[in-house]
Amino acid sequence: IKKIGVLTSGGDSPGMNAAIRSVVRTCAYHNIECTGIYRGYQGMIEGDFKEMGARSVNNIVNKGGTILKSARSKEFMTVEGRKKAHQNLVNANIDALVVIGGDGSFTGAEVFNNEFGYPVMGIPGTIDNDIFGTSHTLGFDTALNTVVECIDKIRDTASSHNRLFLVEVMGRDAGHIALNAGIGAGAEEILIPEQDLGLERLLESLRKSKASGKSSSIVVIAEGDKIGKSVFELKDYIEENMPEYDIRVSVLGHMQRGGAPSCFDRVLASRLGVKAVESLLEGKSNFMVGILNDKVALTPLENAIKGHSEIDRELLRVSDIMST
Ligand code: ATP
Repeated sequence: IKKIGVLTSGGDSPGMNAAIRSVVRTCAYHNIECTGIYRGYQGMIEGDFKEMGARSVNNIVNKGGTILKSARSKEFMTVEGRKKAHQNLVNANIDALVVIGGDGSFTGAEVFNNEFGYPVMGIPGTIDNDIFGTSHTLGFDTALNTVVECIDKIRDTASSHNRLFLVEVMGRDAGHIALNAGIGAGAEEILIPEQDLGLERLLESLRKSKASGKSSSIVVIAEGDKIGKSVFELKDYIEENMPEYDIRVSVLGHMQRGGAPSCFDRVLASRLGVKAVESLLEGKSNFMVGILNDKVALTPLENAIKGHSEIDRELLRVSDIMST
């Protein structure tokens, strides 16, 4: 392998830039070339490439988003699109690919590898932390810190006005952000898709909380929660049943995906980038580089895609105890 291509694909997340930097600098360290591929698979199809050296990634370790831009590419879902992409890589003498993205991007990488026998390595970049084979995805820790900071601020208003706040956080079909940030921010209740609390138990818990002397409350709700109601419908439902509560809804939205990456995410990105490049140089392919028990670990892409990232049951219990 003499030249490695790197791209970011799917939703952006803080830490992607630190991972690009790590891939580029690890290539430079090993005296091989590195090409940045813009706009994910779409840029691969269009040949939107730029040669990158150690100095092209100065001052990005601290930046959110991705300097290579990200995209979703319908064309890459077709054989013709992937053929074009492959031809572009061959023409540019790129021998292997590092894909920074979520499970959709990994599926694309795996299909590409199966079709052309092309060496690929994945780095998990998504705030949702919903990928099997790594305890942390890039951006998760930063998003948690952002959410906790927001809820701390919301709590000031909640307690000044004796209000109940329903705070919706991101996470797709996973409750990792809600559960961790909920505990960190001291939420009274946390609703996540992995556990159906049920509307009755929620009301019961709020009643208990009120009876125990709490005058304000924060309920954190994962966007993918399956309680069967949107956060606004939930507000109406609680108001109907507990008219004593003055309820407000706050949907945190995309601010959760932006911002400077936390130190944890920068270190993680640096470690994963080194391992991705060095694994390709060792002849390995079709793996995701993740972190397990604080050690960098390879998981076959297929398992990373198919496997399910479980919620930590111990955290559920801790959250229960903390809301006593
Ligand atoms: P996020 O977690 O933010 O959604 P993601 O990587 O899962 O990130 P997707 O939009 O699902 O994001 O996938 C990114 C791109 O990967 C798609 O736009 C497409 O180009 C490619 N891709 C996804 N699935 C396939 C597939 N089955 N075959 C080929 N390419 C795919």
